[in-house]
Amino acid sequence: MSRSVFVTGANRGIGLAVARAMAADGDRVAVGHRSGEPPEGFFGVRCDVTDQASVTEAFELVAKEQGPVEVLVANAGITRDTLMLRMGDEAFEEVLETNLMGAFRTVRAAAGAMLPARRGRIVLLSSALGFLGSPGQTNYAAAKTALLGMARSLAWELGSRGVTVNLVAPGIIDTDMTSALSDRRMADLMRMTPLGRTGTPEEVAAAVRFLASESAGYVTGAVLPVGGGIGMGL
Ligand code: NDP
Repeated sequence: MSRSVFVTGANRGIGLAVARAMAADGDRVAVGHRSGEPPEGFFGVRCDVTDQASVTEAFELVAKEQGPVEVLVANAGITRDTLMLRMGDEAFEEVLETNLMGAFRTVRAAAGAMLPARRGRIVLLSSALGFLGSPGQTNYAAAKTALLGMARSLAWELGSRGVTVNLVAPGIIDTDMTSALSDRRMADLMRMTPLGRTGTPEEVAAAVRFLASESAGYVTGAVLPVGGGIGMGL
């Protein structure tokens, strides 16, 4: 069955891999992009998740083009890493504004249509390192773990209407976001990873695809780690 899917921050990285995986399943996929152009072959919707008007407009456009959103993947995210004593309010707020408030805005917009339809899937991109704790990432870890409290509260609020809300917690994935890591930090992180390698965006997309599928109808409020075992058990 073809569903209306919206993926935020999907012009590159994990978001793009998710969009491709779901389109390959036959879903109608709208690619949210803050900057640049949408990837070829996709319906692109400009959407800056830090801007409520932009989010509202994006959901209206998606509904008009391919029907109200039935699957939301809140993927847009940024890092502004630095040690806490050097971290200004701005770097902390900016990361919360995108990774937490941005997810909240899109989830609220999506739930508005999912509730009356009595069905829906919401998948939020969290982080294994967020749960593990990570030096230089107090802002990012705070935002990514706060998504769990949000998801579990929403699992209660939306569960009786058949809407599930889950987290995917990637480990170290080969994208622009991790390309800035120093060789030394990467070596440390690989020592913490039982599988001893970075993951691919496609491997994360496979987990998102499952949680967004009809088969995952009895899974809600869960965290699915995709990190080669990094931080397992947390
Ligand atoms: P990338 O840096 O490759 O891509 C991030 C995407 O988010 C881009 O499309 C970017 O758009 C978009 N984005 C950033 N800010 C906004 C905004 N305000 N509004 C809309 N879109 C925005 O990251 P990844 O693909 O690696 O990460 C995707 C998600 O997975 C993020 O939430 C990240 O935190 C999470 N994650 C990634 C891990 C990794 O190892 N890569 C590990 C754990 C979690 P633009 O092109 O305009 O900048």
